[in-house]
Formats: sequence, C-alpha cells, structure tokens
Amino acid sequence: ALAPYDDANIFARILRGEIPCRKVFEDDHALAFHDINPQAPVHVLVIPKGAYVSWADFSANAGDAEIAGFVRAVGQVARELGLEEPGYRLLANAGIHAHQEVPHLHVHIFGGTQMGAMLP
Ligand code: 5GP
Repeated sequence: ALAPYDDANIFARILRGEIPCRKVFEDDHALAFHDINPQAPVHVLVIPKGAYVSWADFSANAGDAEIAGFVRAVGQVARELGLEEPGYRLLANAGIHAHQEVPHLHVHIFGGTQMGAMLP
C-alpha cells in the first residue's frame, strides 16, 4: 500500500501559500508553477489541489470533477504556454523506482527545445 499523504510535503506547503512559487495557472482543481530547477527551457509542474500522492492514488480516490479538472488544466497550461506546436512532453514520476521526490501528485510539462527519444 502507498504511504499516507504527508501534509508537510513541499507542494502541500505551496498550496497553502506557506512558500512562494512562480504561478502560471490556477483554478478550483489545479495549480501550475515553474519548476525551481528547470530541466528544459520550459519546465512547469501541474498539481491537483487535493491530497494525492501518485497517479494511482488520484485515479482511485479523486472525484470525477477533480480528475476532469486536473486533466483539463494540464492541457490548458500546455496551450497557454504556446507549446502545442512544436510540442511538449508530460511526465509523472511515482515512487522509488521513478525517483519521485515530492509525494504530492504532479505532472511535469517540458518544452521549448527539441528533446531526445523517450527512454527509461
Ligand atoms: P519528482 O522527482 O518528484 O517528479 O520532481 C519534483 C520536482 O519538484 C523537481 O523537478 C524539483 O526541481 C521540483 N521542486 C522541488 N522543490 C520545489 C520547490 O520548492 N518549488 C518548485 N517550484 N519546485 C520544486
């Protein structure tokens, strides 16, 4: 089973306004902000506002409105950042094998450069 959600994680603190972020989008269900250590010219993180650790936790336990809102937010952020053409990459790390650092679900959006082929 997954570890329980830890309210002290850094993205929970960003959601509570306890630490700042460079916000790019916010609505009822999602918040998007620039990654503090960007790995591409555009590197934005999109997080649901609810307390979910991973994609599996979110998809099993979130309500349909939260899921729809989050998925739409990811797409809207990519469009608003002008990434639809020439393209972007989405990534969600989960757990130790994927080096998930922050235990609050987040989708990375990478763009603004030609990226290599996707390999593990
Ligand atoms: P993970 O490895 O969990 O998928 O990625 C966590 C990401 O969060 C990393 O890319 C890291 O740079 C970013 N990050 C960690 N702490 C902070 C922070 O305090 N603010 C922001 N904006 N990004 C952070």
